[in-house]
Amino acid sequence: MATKLVIIGSGAAGYTAAIYAARADLSPVLYEGLQPGGQLTITTEVENFPGFPDGVMGPELMEFMKRQAARFGTSLHHGRIESVDFSKRPFELVDSDGKHLQAEAVIVATGASAKLLGVPGEDHLMGYGVSACATCDAAFFRDMHALVVGGGDTAMEESNYLTKFAKKVTVIHRSETFRASRIMLDRARANPKIEFLMNTVVEAMLPHADRRRLRAVKIKNVQSGESTEMVADGVFVAIGHKPNTDLFKGQLELLPTGYVKLFGTTKTSVEGVFAAGDVGDAIYRQAITAAGTGCAAALDAERWLAGH
Ligand code: FAD
Ligand code: NAP
Repeated sequence: MATKLVIIGSGAAGYTAAIYAARADLSPVLYEGLQPGGQLTITTEVENFPGFPDGVMGPELMEFMKRQAARFGTSLHHGRIESVDFSKRPFELVDSDGKHLQAEAVIVATGASAKLLGVPGEDHLMGYGVSACATCDAAFFRDMHALVVGGGDTAMEESNYLTKFAKKVTVIHRSETFRASRIMLDRARANPKIEFLMNTVVEAMLPHADRRRLRAVKIKNVQSGESTEMVADGVFVAIGHKPNTDLFKGQLELLPTGYVKLFGTTKTSVEGVFAAGDVGDAIYRQAITAAGTGCAAALDAERWLAGH
């Protein structure tokens, strides 16, 4: 028999959708994917999620959401959804154990993943001085010099966090304008361990001659065109995120940027398939907006199921 509702993803959007759907007796089945708890599990303190006046640690917040979803009867599954067929009803999905599922409705809440620069040396040195997650790797750079590439909130947050360990952090940003919010930027600017290198791009990541370990990055000033080397122990790539929508190519209408195209708040191009959180949101990309659209997707799915 087909499951009423499958939720793909366990970030703020997926768990919130599960809380609402489970309380509506839809017995949702939720797949957590490779990053149970989503992006907030790789951050430290979350200061802007309402209800926590003193802040809350990202992993703790996600554990709370998971417990709340489980409390009302969500069936939580480890593993990924590997393929979907939205051309037939009920919809068909295959999980990473090869199990086939049928679902009357689906909520896509697969979020987004860190983007990489794609420069020479980056892949080879990933985990050997190159990282996309300061929370995970900052402690390896105690009393060292770390670089952070990017000019958004993630870059500011990663830089500030790195200064707990590193002796110096240099933010390398390709322009003079920041996407980072004023408060995050001001905090980084006020941190005496953080320096800014503007109008600069990273062209390559260079290893030591005798071992697989970052030695320096090759940088170019985009105004003068001059290339130089900057010696560093670590480089953290913090240039934004790519929506996790490869799975839905050919199944759902996507925007040129890869985000799920939405019709209204959560409706996708396929009736009965709803999207919530960062996967369909190139603008706000916050935990609270992901939770908000997760709620909306569950309510929309509930109404849609009731009407069919
Ligand atoms: P995500 O959190 O990206 O979760 C996606 C989920 O989908 C994951 O569980 C993943 O495992 C799962 N998944 C993916 N593919 C599959 C698949 N094929 N099958 C099954 N599951 C799958 N926002 C704030 O409001 N405040 C902050 O302080 C803040 N700090 C941040 C710090 C960092 C370092 C980062 C990277 C982001 C931060 N954000 C913050 C943004 C916030 O984390 C995101 O907006 C939010 O996590 C989006 O939630 P989501 O549920 O849409 O997706
Ligand atoms: P973002 O806002 O998209 O910023 C990405 C930054 O990386 C931009 O400065 C961009 O430069 C730069 N960049 C992109 N591609 C690049 C490339 N190939 N080479 C060099 N630089 C490149 O992404 P984000 O910082 O990850 O933030 C994502 C969302 O999460 C935002 O909504 C943010 O508010 C939220 N977030 C919130 C918090 C918080 O509130 N505490 C913390 C982290 C993240 P250009 O500006 O030149 O394009």
